[in-house]
Amino acid sequence: MPETYDIGLGNNNSHLRQEADSDFVSFWDSQARNLSWFSLWTKTLDWNPPFARWFVGGTLNASYNALDIHQASKSAKTAILWEGEDGQSRNITYGELFIQVQKFANVLKSLGVQRGDRVTIYLPMVPELPIAMLACARIGATHTVIFSGFSAASIRDRVSDSQSKVIVTADGGYRRGQIINLKSMVDDAIKSLDFVNHVIVLERAKNKISMTPKDKLWGQLMADVSDLCNAEELPSDHPLYILYTSGTTGKPKGVLHGTGGYLTHLYSTFKWAFDIKDSDIFFCTADIGWVTGHSYVVYAPLLCGATQVMYEGAPDFPDVSRMWQILQKYQVTIFYTTPTAIRLFMKFGAEIPNSFDLSYLRLLGTVGEPINPEVWRWYFKIIGKERCPIIDTWWQTETGGMLISPLPGLETVSLKPGSAGHPIPGINIGIVDENGNDVPANTKGYLVVKNPWPGMLLSLWDDDEKYKTTYWSKYDGCYYSGDYAMRDDDGYLWLLGRADDVLNVAGHRIGTAELESCIVSHPSVVESAACGIPDDVKGETIIIFAVLRQGILGGTKLEQELTDKIRTDIGAIATPKHIYFVPKLPKTRSGKIMRRLLKAIGTNEEIGDTSTLEDGSAVTQVQHAFDEVHRRTK
Ligand code: ATP
Ligand code: MG
Repeated sequence: MPETYDIGLGNNNSHLRQEADSDFVSFWDSQARNLSWFSLWTKTLDWNPPFARWFVGGTLNASYNALDIHQASKSAKTAILWEGEDGQSRNITYGELFIQVQKFANVLKSLGVQRGDRVTIYLPMVPELPIAMLACARIGATHTVIFSGFSAASIRDRVSDSQSKVIVTADGGYRRGQIINLKSMVDDAIKSLDFVNHVIVLERAKNKISMTPKDKLWGQLMADVSDLCNAEELPSDHPLYILYTSGTTGKPKGVLHGTGGYLTHLYSTFKWAFDIKDSDIFFCTADIGWVTGHSYVVYAPLLCGATQVMYEGAPDFPDVSRMWQILQKYQVTIFYTTPTAIRLFMKFGAEIPNSFDLSYLRLLGTVGEPINPEVWRWYFKIIGKERCPIIDTWWQTETGGMLISPLPGLETVSLKPGSAGHPIPGINIGIVDENGNDVPANTKGYLVVKNPWPGMLLSLWDDDEKYKTTYWSKYDGCYYSGDYAMRDDDGYLWLLGRADDVLNVAGHRIGTAELESCIVSHPSVVESAACGIPDDVKGETIIIFAVLRQGILGGTKLEQELTDKIRTDIGAIATPKHIYFVPKLPKTRSGKIMRRLLKAIGTNEEIGDTSTLEDGSAVTQVQHAFDEVHRRTK
């Protein structure tokens, strides 16, 4: 009997699936009517492959849909419950947010920002970050948010690429108790960028900064402007933002998103996946510097008039109980996080979350990487107490919103640990072979999307050619996701890792997630990463890096035990050449394992672009573990 968990939250709207299957264009047409439009569209979809324009001729405004529409009934409702890393808190209502956004929109206008201009935002996780984004949206400027953990060089690349004339930053931001001087990072970044006219500086940490003639203080600018600013009437495909991908596989790409299609996608998926109710307290742990933060911290919750918690700092600061403290304090009902974070919590054991009151939780979610079945079970049992459905949501910066996920807001869900379930209505997912032919059930292949969808990127910023070659050249008329996956007999989708990372051993193709999940299901292991290195005989041979639970020591005995487990669970073909025990794995700043760095270490090659690497010491430690083993075995 396969392991499944059926959970219903009292919703029975699966008829939407039939509607979507019979005609996805008219299905999205009816979904788009949930938003407020200044004028309706004349054509639902203009599909000129690979460019899609949704709701052509329609006009709307993202900030209007996030704020103005709630003023009559919800102006006193809390929009953001902000928790600072240092324990400060702020409660911001829809009414206050509305005023702040209009004022900041006037500030931008007073500095000459016009419709179509780009504005770079480099702020920590403070309410002024969504305020700045919504203010841009209000006047039709395209925002480009840079994660506040990035260095001057990364800022310079992104500002030059987007040609932003205005940058919004802060004096400093808190990270693990330290103040990071964001302003000096911007000063370094724009030294040679003469086109930058103004830098707006929010006084967050009150650290010492030096002011230049380009700099203006947020507080002073806000004091001088009116709190009335009408939302611009913008075409549906107006560019809302540029956002650079995480850079897990290489240099980040500048993904460009539009307005009407994107917001339609978010509104619908937020209701279907999270079953959002007026009384919910939603908490998504993603930094707004990543797409999850853009879509499911800023836009989706505000479109739906939800109340959410926004947390400024690191999930393990001052210790690993911080998340549970926040959940208990705000009586969070819906919690959305990453497999990386859950593995971190697991490493320190169940006693910590068990000592908090998490009884308000009713729904859990994950995003960002495949969730290993063992990690899923821990999340389900320890955090959700076997009551809460887990939505494992698959999507990308490029897709704008979720494409695959269980949808408890729509129907009773039947969950399989480790599977993201089925595509959302209106999304046509295919698993295909090298030639683009559909593979049968239980066969691995490349994940593609066969129809355009409303949240899809407009293009890559200023680079239509790269957009075409990256996503649309491998298969004719199909979006190539770059992920490896499989559909089982029941139609459930299993994400198996990145297509580039697939291991090819003696003609057998193995997804990294299969091996990693096998190792992680051993009680001593909490996280692992597999990669292939060249081998004269087999073509490729497997090496694995494993992080152990707190207090457990690795050694040849454990290595043998894990190797035996792989041979039993997957087969002799997957026998790894070595398993290296490491204290941590190299990850992107968005928390994803960077397997290409491990591969470079395994093959003694150049490490390549590390601009999005979170912690350089992880690479040194992996290198050390690798060298140790090879000295011993020489
Ligand atoms: P880059 O494209 O620069 O390498 P990135 O792909 O890491 O960066 P994102 O767009 O943030 O940037 O991440 C999307 C990727 O994350 C997906 O392609 C997939 O590999 C992974 N992913 C996201 N959600 C899931 C999920 N639920 N299950 C499995 N993998 C997921
Ligand atoms: Mg990607």
